[in-house]
Amino acid sequence: MEREDILNIFKDNKAMLEGHFLLTSGRHSNQYLQCALVLQKPSVAEKLSQELCKKIEEQNVDIVIGPAIGGITFAYEMARQLGALALFAEREEGAMTLRRGFTIAPGARVLVVEDVITTGGSVREVVELVKKLGGQVVGVASLVDRSNGKVEFGCPFTSLLPIEVVSYSPEDCPLCKEGKPIVKPGSRKVKK
Ligand SMILES: [Zn+2]
Repeated sequence: MEREDILNIFKDNKAMLEGHFLLTSGRHSNQYLQCALVLQKPSVAEKLSQELCKKIEEQNVDIVIGPAIGGITFAYEMARQLGALALFAEREEGAMTLRRGFTIAPGARVLVVEDVITTGGSVREVVELVKKLGGQVVGVASLVDRSNGKVEFGCPFTSLLPIEVVSYSPEDCPLCKEGKPIVKPGSRKVKK
């Protein structure tokens, strides 16, 4: 699959919108991404994960783990394809932990996944958690990489779709200057 084909899957599923958006950071952007919308269709999740699996060098994986909530369904599909266990880590009093009886055997080969990586903060915490429990982190993988090449996990990092994020401070936003109405994703309200 070419980059264009992957982009079209995101656009067809409204997982990538173009317009004028207010990001949670307060900055404005011409693009908005909602990965859950490609993962809500199991057949689409399967197709994208298949493409990503082809790019991952290390296929000998025992466990796939993702941070809750974004990484849960994605970890499950990746694990299904790699013939591995699907785990997720969640926060307990601020720290990433394994709950629900999940365990990582010492020496287990673990792939850490997330749907979208921006700063990589949660993924880095999961990597540390796996190491602390004695697992061996063989790589990190994501559907979308919005880090603009700035993340480093100390292991191979593979993504299906690197996207350069363009955002503006409200004062410098060209879309505001055009008078385009701004949308806050997740709500249906349109601000002036
Ligand atoms: Zn704007």
